[in-house]
Amino acid sequence: MSNRRDIVCFFVSNLETWVTWWDGMPGHSLKGRSIATAVRHFLESEGDYAEPGPYVLHCPTARADSGTLRLDIVWNPPMLVFPCDFCQQHGEIRVRGGRQVCPKCGGYKKVPV
Ligand SMILES: [Zn+2]
Repeated sequence: MSNRRDIVCFFVSNLETWVTWWDGMPGHSLKGRSIATAVRHFLESEGDYAEPGPYVLHCPTARADSGTLRLDIVWNPPMLVFPCDFCQQHGEIRVRGGRQVCPKCGGYKKVPV
C-alpha cells in the first residue's frame, strides 16, 4: 500500500517508557513498557486505520551506538511479528560442528511478540 505509514518508537528515558506514533504524525501516540507493547497498543488503538500487513518500525534510541534501528514488522491482528534477534534473521545459528535451526523462531526468522 502506497499510503502505508512507517511507525516510530522512541524511548523516553526519564519516563522509562516507549512512545509510539506514525512517522510524521506525532500528535497521536501511545506508551508501553517495551517496544512490542507500545507498538501493539498503538496499532490496536488505530483500529481500521492500521491495516494488517507489513510495517517499517524506526527506533531512534534503541541502540545509541548504532543510530536508528530499523525493523520490518508484521501486524496480523491479534498477532504482532518482529524479526528474530536471536538468530539475526538467519533462521539458524552456529553451533559446535555446524549449524542448527534457530530454537527461538524455528527457522521462520520472525517471532510473535
Ligand atoms: Zn531465529
